[in-house]
Amino acid sequence: MASEGPRNEDRRGAGGPGIDLDALREKYREERDKRIRADGNDQYVEIAGRHAHFEHDPWVEERFERPPVSDEVEVALIGGGFGGLLAGARLRQRGVESLRIIEKGGDVGGTWYWNRYPGVACDVESYCYLPLIEEVGTRPKQKYSPGAEIFEHCRALARRFDLYRGALFRTEVTEIRWDDEIARWIVKTDRGDRLRARFVCLAVGFLEKPKLPGIPGIADFRGVAFHTARWDYAYTGGGPGGDLDRLGDKTVGVIGTGASAVQCVPHLGASAKQLFVFQRTPAGVDVRANRPTNLEWLSSLPPGWQKRRIENFHVLTAGGWEPEDLVGDRWTDVPRRIHEAVVETGRTDLSVDELRVISERIDFEKMEEIRAHIASVVKDPATAEALKPWYRQFCKRPCFHDDYLPTFNRPNVTLVDTFGRGVERITETGVIANEKEFALDCLVFATGFEVSTEFARRAGFETIGRGGLTLSEKWKDGFETFHGLHVHGFPNCFIMSLAQSGYTLNFPYLIDLQADHIAYVVGEVLARGARAIEASREAERAWCEEVSKRGEAADLDFAERCTPSYYNDEGRPGAKTLSRNFFAGSPTEFANLLSSWRAEGSLRGMTTSPAVGPIRRSESW
Ligand code: NDP
Repeated sequence: MASEGPRNEDRRGAGGPGIDLDALREKYREERDKRIRADGNDQYVEIAGRHAHFEHDPWVEERFERPPVSDEVEVALIGGGFGGLLAGARLRQRGVESLRIIEKGGDVGGTWYWNRYPGVACDVESYCYLPLIEEVGTRPKQKYSPGAEIFEHCRALARRFDLYRGALFRTEVTEIRWDDEIARWIVKTDRGDRLRARFVCLAVGFLEKPKLPGIPGIADFRGVAFHTARWDYAYTGGGPGGDLDRLGDKTVGVIGTGASAVQCVPHLGASAKQLFVFQRTPAGVDVRANRPTNLEWLSSLPPGWQKRRIENFHVLTAGGWEPEDLVGDRWTDVPRRIHEAVVETGRTDLSVDELRVISERIDFEKMEEIRAHIASVVKDPATAEALKPWYRQFCKRPCFHDDYLPTFNRPNVTLVDTFGRGVERITETGVIANEKEFALDCLVFATGFEVSTEFARRAGFETIGRGGLTLSEKWKDGFETFHGLHVHGFPNCFIMSLAQSGYTLNFPYLIDLQADHIAYVVGEVLARGARAIEASREAERAWCEEVSKRGEAADLDFAERCTPSYYNDEGRPGAKTLSRNFFAGSPTEFANLLSSWRAEGSLRGMTTSPAVGPIRRSESW
């Protein structure tokens, strides 16, 4: 806690009637401690080997064959989600024709290709979330789009920017290796392809590799088991809209209560004979209030409206101030209240510690409201009590849903709260929790995605740079990047990840910033006829120092005081976690920093090697 906070009477008043801040702090600490595990991230098992079937693609026909490809492109885009699509779109806008998406799935879409569980949707407003709406002409039907609509928007992006041309689907990259002699990346795949690419863009996603809990007996279950990111509609019936008509005589268990579970549990509750929801830590579920788009309003917006709206949302969610809250939903609730509280003090000289105390108080108030809302919706008092989250709102990813809590009022739905311990064992016939066995026909793992494992493990391939250095070796002790995109030792390579990049709650916003920047750098290298471009070691060091300095300025012990989650390496944030930090800054500072860098035009911090002989452009697709 801050050494110097506001005066006691301020804190009492600030807590509001009935809120005892010290007692809440203590309660949060106790709840956190209950959940801390010695095995941290090792509690999860990789989906590989005997668990490999959990990652099989349910959205394609089994058999697929094609001859291997062996040719050359200017840019290989590895991944066909928003990263590959936006990099492709921005490169096309700069006149780069020779591009190729290489994608494991059967289509573009990434997250929205894989995640088709019932109820899948995005709870960031569609008018902000769907990138390049104005360019593509998509008109979201609702304030919060269902997954199918977002997937369709991804396909529309690919069509609009001609990114299906030359794309290789159902193709897993197995290795990419820099060949210094020819200044090309050699991309190998599981289909026997051997491609050359002047540039590679690693757009493998942020939450792409599903993970399983390492619960003893997990491989023993004889019923049907799958992960939310690979839903088995052949078994459940229905589709992403729900109506799981084959579950009427089935007992289903769900492990996990994060954002995916919050969306699919209402549909399982509506269709299954009996549903058990196994909870370790409750989600903080706030109101969503979805509604149809007013198409007249949408048509009336002036050109450039989306950029303006996204920036407004970004500024407000990152703690800045805008006179108007264009999105006006629960994401901006806490930051707006913090701002109002600061204005109320009448002071402009509040210290960082004083600001932290104000933020904490507003957060407590917000979470009290969320807890009160649960108590008002969930009829059984013990269930309502168990569903209450006891941590600060951004310790875990906040959830927004209006049907999750009422689902626990159904007679066929039971919350099995495990008091922070989780499921103990999985047997051939069900799940053991709280020392009791629950017999199940079907077990759904809503257990999330790998975040802090090795990049190569998540990507599914190793990246081998200059002199044989692998990215895994390079990042053994922590991330090192320049601008969160370039890595010294890895020429002509762009890595689209969250590490050391700008902070946002709206991923496509950050991805588009990165895409724009990549397209600029590629355009410059081609225009200058350079052979290769690479971040200098000094620039990389300076960027890491800047990120870490800014991380310290942010509330560093916040992560340590949080309940465990993938946000804080399961409650054990260390040096490696910190190296993965966002570039913390004032709203849109990262965007401005990149655009000023581009405006300088000198590619500062990057070294380019001159072409040897005439530069040959790769053939176009
Ligand atoms: P999460 O990682 O958020 O949740 C995983 C869940 O599994 C947690 O509730 C976790 O409990 C639980 N769990 C893990 N191991 C065990 C165990 N041994 N016993 C019992 N429970 C266990 O995954 P999600 O797929 O829900 O969400 C991942 C991310 O995807 C979100 O954070 C969000 O960024 C994104 N997403 C976004 C959506 C959107 O609307 N934009 C919708 C859905 C997902 P515990 O909390 O105790 O660790």
